[in-house]
Amino acid sequence: MEQIDGVKIMHCRNVREFSVPELPHFSVDGYCPETRTICQIFRCHFHGHTCQPFRDVITLNGDNLAERYERTMSRLEQMTRPGYQVKVQWECEFDDAGKPELLAHPQRGLWKRGHASTL
Ligand SMILES: [Zn+2]
Repeated sequence: MEQIDGVKIMHCRNVREFSVPELPHFSVDGYCPETRTICQIFRCHFHGHTCQPFRDVITLNGDNLAERYERTMSRLEQMTRPGYQVKVQWECEFDDAGKPELLAHPQRGLWKRGHASTL
């Protein structure tokens, strides 16, 4: 599996908020038009990552983590079907310890700043 590290995430710094034309109802965290690469950052619990325990326990939303993971994987598959590459960064893989404040991650801030400066 290709390693996704800080350098590769930096590579996506010029991405804009992007909707895949073929899949307008999916929002993506980043997109690199040169390589047609979609960058996605997933929170482990929300997307039912395999690092999460109690995968068959029903959540407040009426589903369980195993189902969430299945939905996430099928969504990724739909994104790759039109020919996009998809890079996924799970919350637990940012750091060895995992960081709950992932969505405030500075790399993500860079993407947003890149977006603002291209307007
Ligand atoms: Zn995880």
